[in-house]
Amino acid sequence: MKNGIVYFVGAGPGDPGLLTIKGKQALEEADVILYDRLANPKLLEFASPDCEFIYCGKLPDRHFMKQREINALLVEKALKGLTVVRLKGGDPSVFGRVGEEADALHEHGIRYEMVPGITSGIAAPLYAGIPVTHRDFASSFAMITAHDKSLKGTPNLDWEGLARSVQTLVFYMGVKNLPYICKQLIAYGKSPSVPVIVVQWGTWGRQRSVKGSLENIQQKVQEHQITNPAIIVIGDIVNFQTHSWFESKPLIGQHMMVVTHGEDEDPLADKLRDSGADVIEWPKWRTENMPVNEEILQRIGTFEDIFFTSRRAVCEFFQTLASKKIDIRQLTAGLSAASEHAEQELEKRGFRVSASQPESEKRLVVGSRHAVENMQTQKPCSLYVTHENVIDDRFTHMIQRTISESPLHMIICPSKPSVQQLISAGEQISISPEPSASRPPIVCIGDDSAAGIYGFTAVQEQEELFALIQNQQAEKKLLHS
Ligand code: SAH
Repeated sequence: MKNGIVYFVGAGPGDPGLLTIKGKQALEEADVILYDRLANPKLLEFASPDCEFIYCGKLPDRHFMKQREINALLVEKALKGLTVVRLKGGDPSVFGRVGEEADALHEHGIRYEMVPGITSGIAAPLYAGIPVTHRDFASSFAMITAHDKSLKGTPNLDWEGLARSVQTLVFYMGVKNLPYICKQLIAYGKSPSVPVIVVQWGTWGRQRSVKGSLENIQQKVQEHQITNPAIIVIGDIVNFQTHSWFESKPLIGQHMMVVTHGEDEDPLADKLRDSGADVIEWPKWRTENMPVNEEILQRIGTFEDIFFTSRRAVCEFFQTLASKKIDIRQLTAGLSAASEHAEQELEKRGFRVSASQPESEKRLVVGSRHAVENMQTQKPCSLYVTHENVIDDRFTHMIQRTISESPLHMIICPSKPSVQQLISAGEQISISPEPSASRPPIVCIGDDSAAGIYGFTAVQEQEELFALIQNQQAEKKLLHS
């Protein structure tokens, strides 16, 4: 059997938009993806429905997957002839052990390619308003690990050289050793007043940063409970922090969950993201194809009205027509749809959308199995099931982990079915709908049925939701030093 190939892909620092095009292509082609804790799991949505995901970060039952176990897995999967992606946070070559993993592949004659990524040491400061170089204040910067192989637990570095000759010092993995770093730099000649910024979860919606000096940054980090992952930037450049366009977004720092219901994607999650929130969608869905209904296709030209329940239904239906070599000019029916997205999808294909004719005897309803079965029609009509939406379990664990790592500030159910989804299956990700002190607020749009029993907040529309979040934000004191 032919050996497979391994792509080492830099996932970027967190913001999923910071993945390279080449990285995205590798994810799309992968049969298996081994991913790290700091790679945004959202990137796995680019993978094909049957790609296997293997988490290589901290596990609940033991510490970390050991480096040699990761190496062995890469070799094992590639020897099976698979296309493997090793997805690493930031850039694979910056404190990412990519050399060790590549050596293991080389020993077995396995081909590999490297896809660089944007490293957090540059991106996190930039999202906080600080470039690492500046013509007037910093002509050099160094990326330094504060967690090396030294047995003492403190990094063994040329402190004198760093203090004397590099203007901007960027430390990775440094929160635990921050007091030691500051002490060493002062001891080797940096002024105690040299400014420092610590940026936690840089480029994620949950980014936070605190600023101080070599003398007082430790105290501020403790006050604001800044923990890993964080980047420490030390140098005069920190004083020239411009306005942080990112941290000024209205919903920055908010970690939210949008409950999905399997039909077309809801643009709400993206709207919240654009406003700066960190948004996770649960559950993730995949579509399963249904057998082609030949009987309906044979009389496709006889319908007077065809109604599509979702955008995906439109795509699947026309794909089936194409694969069956049915000329769309056979369609003489008026076409209508249940949502704006579905209408747009029809218009994209050159159709004029008409008003639905529920009274028509010769009506065909096209949609997912669930949508078609729940369709309430006034007169009997024909039904065409294009696909079935099923929950993609590959994402469940990572969603649960994300929530336990960074608590949610709000759960949003944008529709009636999503309220039912949360009540019936929330336990799968350790969220009980029952009111409790630890449960985040739950807001439902356009459905107040769960307000009484479960204490969910009901709002009529999205604008009201945004106003509600902004009021909550205003009440909270913004974190700034
Ligand atoms: N290869 C990665 C670094 C891996 S070492 C890169 O190029 O970014 C892990 C350390 O990176 C963390 O302890 C933290 O110091 C830093 N880090 C990674 N992602 C980060 C982020 N989004 N914000 C701040 N620091 C981050």
